[in-house]
Amino acid sequence: MKKAYNFFAGPCVLPESAIDQTIAALKDFEGTGIPVVSISHRSKEWEATMNECRALWKELLNIPDNYSIVFLGGGASLQFLYVAMNLFEKKAGYLETGVWAKKALKEAQGLAKSRGLAADAAYAVASSADKTYCYIPKDYTIPTDLDYFHITTNNTIYGTEIKKDIDCPVTLVADMSSDIMSRPVDVAKYGLIYGGAQKNVGPAGVSFAIIRDDVLGKVSNYIPTMLDYKTHIEKESMFNTPPVFAIYIMTQTLKWLKGIGGVEKIQKINEEKAALLYNEIDRNKLFVGTAAKEDRSNMNVCFVMAPEYKELEANFLDYAKSNGMLGIKGHRSVGGFRASIYNACPVESVQALIKCMQDFEKSI
Ligand SMILES: *Cc1c(COP(=O)(O)O)cnc(C)c1O
Repeated sequence: MKKAYNFFAGPCVLPESAIDQTIAALKDFEGTGIPVVSISHRSKEWEATMNECRALWKELLNIPDNYSIVFLGGGASLQFLYVAMNLFEKKAGYLETGVWAKKALKEAQGLAKSRGLAADAAYAVASSADKTYCYIPKDYTIPTDLDYFHITTNNTIYGTEIKKDIDCPVTLVADMSSDIMSRPVDVAKYGLIYGGAQKNVGPAGVSFAIIRDDVLGKVSNYIPTMLDYKTHIEKESMFNTPPVFAIYIMTQTLKWLKGIGGVEKIQKINEEKAALLYNEIDRNKLFVGTAAKEDRSNMNVCFVMAPEYKELEANFLDYAKSNGMLGIKGHRSVGGFRASIYNACPVESVQALIKCMQDFEKSI
């Protein structure tokens, strides 16, 4: 098979062991003699997998007992609406750190409008739109009359990250789609953590939500059954058919993470990988990083050609591709390059990319 270094932003690299395990389960799920995608989700074998998956989440993130974890369809994008439906009553604040944050805010604003509330009932408390979201706003105060304050911990497109759990006087809600399980999280600081699986914890097709018991049941409007977190908590994510295949692969991915030492261990590895790559970007005369240094993401490393070498962008992309680098083109909205170096991205891939950048520099 062709040697490939996978830097795609999502779906993206998954642990080899998780893929191997999945291939085996596609032939024979837990000794049942049938594929994992063909067994009833009400079978005891499947129930055991669901329980294992939930237990891994709880153990790896050290989730306190007054929280539930649910698995849902519709991706993080549908949870933008879930959040608003389940928590929004009168006023909600969002930290606008990128396109995903903006899309999350849009759902709350839509609800506010449909209920005849003022235009600023759901609003951006602070924004970094003025500089193409290349930094995380810091000088802002979170009003204490909000139903909740929403943050996006890792801004996948711009390569910025809130790497420390913030203090928040109201219910804190976080979209952690692209940095969940990359570091220890003090779950108790959050009312709700959610995200799509396809960056750090599995394939596309399933999303997760970690919900503190007391944040639900406070809104007066009707919540459609499928959009009510309570439905899924009460039925342990089996109100309707769960995305079994995606959950299976997620379980294998979490097993791998536990096997290598959990989130404390992976945080160290992630910091080392990111430092290697950022050091090269800062050293290499051809490239410059785009994110503010103090906010640089450990997951998505964004950079561009230095202005005087701007015309070499396409050349470098071709050169990198011919050396097996996949997915380093920046998001279509920002251009340049982006190397996504999630949990399962081996350090060898980062080293290969660095060598590629160095060889290209020598060739100029
Ligand atoms: C990828 C991503 C999303 C969108 O996830 P979907 O599952 O495709 O809806 C939302 N937020 C962040 C931070 C992301 O990285």
